[in-house]
Amino acid sequence: MDFNFSAADEAFRAELRAWLEKHRQYAVPATDTLADEGEGDWEARIRWHKKLYEGGWMGIHWPREYGGRGATILQNVIYQEELERAGVAMPFTGFGISLLGPTLIHWGTEEQKRRHLPKILAGDEFWCQGYSEPNAGSDLASLQTRAVEMGDYFVVNGSKIWTSAAHHADWIFLLVRTDPDAPKHKGISYLLVDMKTPGITVRPLVQMTGARGFTRCSSRMCGCRAPTWSARRTRDGRWRSPR
Ligand SMILES: Cc1cc2nc3c(=O)[nH]c(=O)nc-3n(C[C@H](O)[C@H](O)[C@H](O)COP(=O)(O)OP(=O)(O)OC[C@H]3O[C@@H](n4cnc5c(N)ncnc54)[C@H](O)[C@@H]3O)c2cc1C
Repeated sequence: MDFNFSAADEAFRAELRAWLEKHRQYAVPATDTLADEGEGDWEARIRWHKKLYEGGWMGIHWPREYGGRGATILQNVIYQEELERAGVAMPFTGFGISLLGPTLIHWGTEEQKRRHLPKILAGDEFWCQGYSEPNAGSDLASLQTRAVEMGDYFVVNGSKIWTSAAHHADWIFLLVRTDPDAPKHKGISYLLVDMKTPGITVRPLVQMTGARGFTRCSSRMCGCRAPTWSARRTRDGRWRSPR
């Protein structure tokens, strides 16, 4: 593999550097990370997200047909280098750009893509990730949150923890157990759930130090209903839509 930057890579770098010079006053500082406990700067993060989007610098790893730049791995490296050089950060606005978007691009139905991808990219819809549970962290296959299919919706019951930005998020992508009789690494499904769904409550996570960091929350689903159109299942070990 050739690790040298091509002429196209250098042009990419120059374009980004010039853009950052011009717009860095809108940026959140490089100290703003996922681990940051800072609360109250969500609006500033969204403003920066939208500014990057307007400039064509949000979701650069997404394919062009979905609004990204189709950036190569090396261009992603350059992107990080130039942000670092400018002393600014990619704003953490949940997991839409990094996780949910690419998952939908690969596995989503056309309806899911049309409905969510443009809003995620533009900074008009924010997502949190509901994988970890109080007794399912590194060993995610221990997860207990149950989803029972009832015709055209699932009823979800369980608890999630470490759900970063849950109190800001519009939607959550959840891993849930849909087949309790399957071996524990199977029978798990992936649901897209609107955070306004009745039955979802979000609480700040109180840490050992007593800090009530709002950037990580615990969320509880009591009988909340998710429509089946939002499911991607792993039955038979394969992701697919129920329809
Ligand atoms: C800042 C932050 C943000 C997060 N945001 C989210 C989020 O938005 N959504 C989400 O779903 N999760 C989130 N997480 C959770 C995270 O991704 C991990 O799933 C979780 O931290 C690991 O679970 P645990 O804390 O229960 O640790 P455990 O799983 O209990 O692990 C504790 C320690 O034991 C070790 N260990 C565990 N099992 C084994 C084993 N079988 N053999 C050897 N060693 C083992 C681990 O390596 C680790 O050192 C976040 C975590 C942090 C710190």
